[in-house]
Amino acid sequence: MTTTDRPAPATETLWNDAFWASRLSDRAGNMTASAIREILKITQEPDVISFAGGLPAPELFPMEAVRAAFDTVMTKYGPAALQYSTTEGHPPLREWIAAQSGIPARNVQIMTGSQQGLDLLGKVLISQGDTVLVESPTYLGALQSFQPYRPRYVEMPTDEQGIDVDALEALLAHTPAKLLYAVPNFQNPTGRTLSLERRQRLVELTARHGVMVLEDDPYGKLRFTGEDLPSLYQIALDKAGGDPERVNVIYSSSFSKTLVPGLRDAWVQAAMPIIQKLIQAKQGADLHTPTLNQMMVAELVGDTLPRQIEIVKKAYGERAQQMLTQIAAHFPEGAEYTRPEGGMFLWVTLPEGINTTTLLAKAVERKVAYVPGSPFFALGGGENTLRLSYSSAGPEQIQRGIRALGETFAEALG
Ligand code: PMP
Repeated sequence: MTTTDRPAPATETLWNDAFWASRLSDRAGNMTASAIREILKITQEPDVISFAGGLPAPELFPMEAVRAAFDTVMTKYGPAALQYSTTEGHPPLREWIAAQSGIPARNVQIMTGSQQGLDLLGKVLISQGDTVLVESPTYLGALQSFQPYRPRYVEMPTDEQGIDVDALEALLAHTPAKLLYAVPNFQNPTGRTLSLERRQRLVELTARHGVMVLEDDPYGKLRFTGEDLPSLYQIALDKAGGDPERVNVIYSSSFSKTLVPGLRDAWVQAAMPIIQKLIQAKQGADLHTPTLNQMMVAELVGDTLPRQIEIVKKAYGERAQQMLTQIAAHFPEGAEYTRPEGGMFLWVTLPEGINTTTLLAKAVERKVAYVPGSPFFALGGGENTLRLSYSSAGPEQIQRGIRALGETFAEALG
């Protein structure tokens, strides 16, 4: 008997955990609660300084511009702003996005958050057992999205410059991979950025082996130091002579970190065979991204977005610098850390043998919290690592919090 044809219980006594588990699909059984969500609960006491959550700074949100955009859209579009609309998305918004890359608007699909893009791309790309190459570590939310589709994960080694492409080349020589998932800019969780030379080689290697690349880039516009680098998508598009139908990179980005996350507006750009499947998957998921939100974002991309990007970059750059200064002053020898050039996160590696999950309780006793690193590893490991977010902490909090963390680490290191 399979789980699905197991009979329903006859009596009240059967309404137990085993019963409920037997009523769920195999796919639901593969879904996991975000490991950090549970941890975050204990870090949310008011007097705990949290470097754990990855929230954009709310005090920087463009409140007045969003309010004005709402009024403009209601006047300009009337009831159409509140009506159902097409799955593909609001045409002016798609056109604006497409123009940024010099591609036709039809290659752009609006998503309800880039997280939806990860889920629906997982759905249309991954069959059970397909090999998916992921960074080690990688974005936990992508693992959560892909997991129900039962991929076989293979981890790509990474260093300070992101994915080790020599290791990738060796891997691809004997591993027929379906998909490579990467966050090349200011990665969540490490804050690392893939170098230009590695980007070029990654695009060349994956194209040669027919591997699809999912480039997840919510942070690319938030570079506060150093030179902007072309996206994998842009490199592949240039190599294809500007023809988006001959590009093996699927690009995903979002207005969450540059504008506001709550409007849930994001997009995917890709070759039409991918976009067409994505449209079908999205029809089944939510018909379309909220009309009103898309219209508002389209009003905001012209003036507010570029201004907002400057504001956010400046603030995060200062906060990152403050955190790095405090780390240099207070972390004990043996604690290594990344120096991000943008985005919201940095990554700490403690000596082998130290478990950052158990250590978190000690940190919370000292009124400071972080996210342990191990959930970011598709195949486990990384017990001695952790992620720190500097996006929503003030200078005083950074100073006190990092000192407290330094003390916690020093005690653990003996
Ligand atoms: N990808 C990465 C790498 C992220 O860090 C996040 C947000 N934490 C997302 C995707 C999802 O963002 P959103 O759905 O808000 O666009």
